[in-house]
Amino acid sequence: MRYLSTRNSNLKVSSREAILKGISEDGGLYVPESFPKFDILDHLDLSYTQLCHAILSLYLTDFVSDELLEIIEKSYASFEQDICKVAYHKDYYLELYHGRTSAFKDFALCLLPNLMIYAKKSLGINEKTLILTATSGDTGKAALEGFYNTENIDILVLYPTEGVSCIQKAQMDTTSSLNSKVISIDGNFDDAQTAAKKIFNDKDIKEELKNQNICLSSANSINIGRLLPQIVYYFYAYQDLVNNKKISAGDKISFCVPTGNFGDILAGYYAKEMGLPIEKLVIASNDNNVLTDFFTTGTYDANRDLVKTISPSMDILVSSNLERLIYHKSSDEIVKQKMTELNESKIFTFEGDFHEFKCGYATENETRNTIKEVFEDEGYLIDTHTAVAKNITDKLGLDKTVILSTASPYKFSSTVLSALGENISSDEFENIDLLYEKTGAKIPTEIKKLHSKKIIHKTKITKDKIEDEVLKFAKRGKRISVPATSANIGPGFDALGVALDLANTCEFKLTDDENTFEKNVESNLIYKSYKYTFDFYGEKIVPVEFDLDTNIPMSRGLGSSAACIVMGIMAAFSVMGKNPDEKEILKIATQIEGHPDNVAPAIFADAVASILKDDEVFVEKFEISDKFKFLAIISDFELSTQKAREVLPENYTKNDAVFNISRVSMLVLSLISGNEDNLKIALEDKIHEPYRLQLIPEIEKIDEIIENSDAIGHYLSGAGSTIMIILKSDDTTSESEIRNKLNKLSNSYEVMQLDIDKKGAFII
Ligand SMILES: *Cc1c(COP(=O)(O)O)cnc(C)c1O
Repeated sequence: MRYLSTRNSNLKVSSREAILKGISEDGGLYVPESFPKFDILDHLDLSYTQLCHAILSLYLTDFVSDELLEIIEKSYASFEQDICKVAYHKDYYLELYHGRTSAFKDFALCLLPNLMIYAKKSLGINEKTLILTATSGDTGKAALEGFYNTENIDILVLYPTEGVSCIQKAQMDTTSSLNSKVISIDGNFDDAQTAAKKIFNDKDIKEELKNQNICLSSANSINIGRLLPQIVYYFYAYQDLVNNKKISAGDKISFCVPTGNFGDILAGYYAKEMGLPIEKLVIASNDNNVLTDFFTTGTYDANRDLVKTISPSMDILVSSNLERLIYHKSSDEIVKQKMTELNESKIFTFEGDFHEFKCGYATENETRNTIKEVFEDEGYLIDTHTAVAKNITDKLGLDKTVILSTASPYKFSSTVLSALGENISSDEFENIDLLYEKTGAKIPTEIKKLHSKKIIHKTKITKDKIEDEVLKFAKRGKRISVPATSANIGPGFDALGVALDLANTCEFKLTDDENTFEKNVESNLIYKSYKYTFDFYGEKIVPVEFDLDTNIPMSRGLGSSAACIVMGIMAAFSVMGKNPDEKEILKIATQIEGHPDNVAPAIFADAVASILKDDEVFVEKFEISDKFKFLAIISDFELSTQKAREVLPENYTKNDAVFNISRVSMLVLSLISGNEDNLKIALEDKIHEPYRLQLIPEIEKIDEIIENSDAIGHYLSGAGSTIMIILKSDDTTSESEIRNKLNKLSNSYEVMQLDIDKKGAFII
């Protein structure tokens, strides 16, 4: 299968090239040269990922089939168990929001990065890719997650300051990947999209980036790699309807699609062209009803003000993917002409045969009322975008129609809550809880966690500054991330540690300022460790400058010094041009720190057992069952390591030794197996906790709070003062209960839910 430019069908490329480039040189979009046939009735028993593989294999013909399957399975592992689910109520809702970022954009954006990485590798392309993406809210976060710390691919997201929901903004601004930057710009989505397109067509910028070995690409739905994965769920929905006897094999059904950039519905058109029995594809718009006008009058007129609505992901005036449909209905010559007109005067006319489409739009009030009606009549909660589609389905009196449910209602909590007639709070996170109390609909895990996440991206600019920001972003130095760690787990004193998903990060560059560098070496552990590494190898030291972002609290038993040490060593390896060999880094880090308990998990990720013998470190890594999660209680009390060491006795009884040996072996096994009852017993310790816990203020009260919760158990993290609680991963109530009770004590505590870190320290 080859891909042609909509503006010049003689420009043909392979699927790998089309995906990497994102947009054709002539400004056109890539389209497949033909539509392969696929009969869903022959594939009624395929799982989602199998179906995805079967369909994408027809389009991505230059991918090795087995490897494509591997990529698909890996990508969709980030989804909840039901990747995509049809909810049968009065209408049929295709729920497309069970991915990491709770909108349908995840379907393509979990996969696209892996397709790109494969394409780059197999085509032998070594240059860095810079993804530039404009977002109306959902694409941004889905792309940031998809490209999370990918090697050799950086991502810059532009979103309109006033155009996204609170939750969408929080999702993007808290993204901590080292390869990303999120910028909020004055203006609306069209401004952001136009600015991004302008950079794609700017020869000077492209040249300057090329000199730095960087090539631009897009994660917007102008990239064909965004569109193809979306075809799959149309087939899947049909399969589900047949399997559930809602229709007979061969019956025609319709789809009603909340539409903005015309990507989602175009994927439905592709499904129809491939042979899926589709009656109508219904284009559902909000007050920005350019498309409704176009499909009823033949004139596309973007000369109007963009209205800010409660369905912000559809607040778009220039729907990029319409260009593809016009190509399929005419020719490259005509597309070129129409797009020139659109560019110059924001208007064009095209009379085509669109018999398979229907369209309509819903006003703000209609959308609100629909949310309320559906909830009151059927107890089913839908978001604002889905409500637009449901409203139009009703208005057009459509039969046998699947409504695409494109986002979780929790992404728009305040709007949905007020549509239900409830009072809303000025705190959006409170609205999430209120919406849950009112409806009982499950809150997506990642949205729940947002509240305690740190805002990382704060850049806000006017749109004429975008080019500067892109170039500045491209010129950044190397970056390192090292996770927090919790050592001395229960009876595993000086032996067991675990890496947590809270990290110190830095950017570093070479510097000429030797004086400042020397001063830093004297006072700062990162610089010290950097220098130590050069001395270790007998190499001449090269001065650098670190720009540090610390997230791990200091002197709280969460491995902040281990993180600094590993960071300095890794920077030294990079400057010396050495491969970041984990064993070597561990050896040096252990020499500096004196013990491997924290540095080992910081380097290797997951949980690690370590032994230091005659200057040599032995490590064994293991994975903790996903039945457990960790909750850190961090007090403002600093416990000095020296004091914590002083209180320990010189000798222990045989009984105490046996006690700990039996517990620690049970501890490791139950952490792996997920057995709660055994873990509870195995967390007891006789070596350090009985002595050290006495140093922690208010410890009896903290103990009592934890005892009275559903927690499995707790232990003193490192030498303290953090108390680490282990909870069942499906425990949704203990965290806020514990937090509320701690708030009533006299000292102040920070409560932080932490996942296990799976990546370890890394440099990009
Ligand atoms: C992006 C988005 C849409 C619009 O999809 P297009 O492919 O741009 O037409 C609708 N609803 C939600 C929730 C979205 O995120």
